[in-house]
Amino acid sequence: MLNNKAINELLDYKSDTPILSIYLNIVEKTPESYKLTLRSMLKGIDMPDDEEAVIRYIEHEFSREGRSVAIFSCASKDYFRAYLISVPVHSRVHIGNNPYVRPLANILDAYGAYGVALVDKQGARFFYFHMGELVEQEGVLGEEVHKVRGVESSQNMVKRNLKESAEFAMGFFDEKNVRRVLIGGTDENIAQFQKSLSKTWQSLVVGTLSLGMRANYQDVLDETIKVGEKAEEKREAGLVTQMITAASKYSDGVLGLRDTLRAAQEGRVQTLLVDENFHASGYKCDGCEHLTAEKLDTCPFCGEGFTEIPDAAEMAVRRVMLDGGVVEIVRDNAEMERAGIGGLLRY
Ligand SMILES: [Zn+2]
Repeated sequence: MLNNKAINELLDYKSDTPILSIYLNIVEKTPESYKLTLRSMLKGIDMPDDEEAVIRYIEHEFSREGRSVAIFSCASKDYFRAYLISVPVHSRVHIGNNPYVRPLANILDAYGAYGVALVDKQGARFFYFHMGELVEQEGVLGEEVHKVRGVESSQNMVKRNLKESAEFAMGFFDEKNVRRVLIGGTDENIAQFQKSLSKTWQSLVVGTLSLGMRANYQDVLDETIKVGEKAEEKREAGLVTQMITAASKYSDGVLGLRDTLRAAQEGRVQTLLVDENFHASGYKCDGCEHLTAEKLDTCPFCGEGFTEIPDAAEMAVRRVMLDGGVVEIVRDNAEMERAGIGGLLRY
């Protein structure tokens, strides 16, 4: 499974010989058609041992579960990793000295760490979804609400139940490091539940679902992805505006490849924003791995020469993820398309 441990291992791995990275989307595809896609992606790549390893895996081991598969191969080092992914990715191939992780950053960003609470008058169910998979669910059941005890007291009972559900939710979500919360139920119950959350958790609520307590987890997941994508666009647009404003005041924001690379290797980028289609080359020092956007003859830090790197954004993504920052791959945002790459800084 593609968990955080696996991602960290990929982030850390590097080789002096090329590593082949492949992402293959299999959504609604027959084996014939995704094998054809794979073969056409491998065309023109002169890495016979890695190609053989990849094809062997797809032909004999691949179980066709999930919606995509990510494969990383460095045959000369006996390195081979394949992960099934529960969400769709774009099919693509990449060659470099590190596993290509940008699509993974994209998946983590769009589908990582969702908490869902379905609430009613008496109890609640909680779900934790990560990268399109249900990781854990729990439920609480409060006191049964008796009508006979009168309108006033049954209202209080509902309030108390929803307050207890909210307290349980905060513990559950906190433990899972949830970054986004969706709430399902009637408007009235949602409002009451939300009021009982702390300010921090209120700010992490990104939307509501029109699902009842009895919804099955597949429906909850489908709704979550749908509502989550819309909320995500809005949240990202806010971050882009914040970054542009901060960069224009030279306070805690940077824009453009040169400044972003500099901030990234100083470990100052808290949130890296990259336009989905941004690609630009950059340079990496052969000695100390210093990154620059423009070619220099010698490294100002160690005096070594530079090697051109075809995808500088990938270098920034890796550096920021290794430093514990967050990477946002921004889609369909005109301001971000103009900027290409930028970031919000820690200091
Ligand atoms: Zn250097």
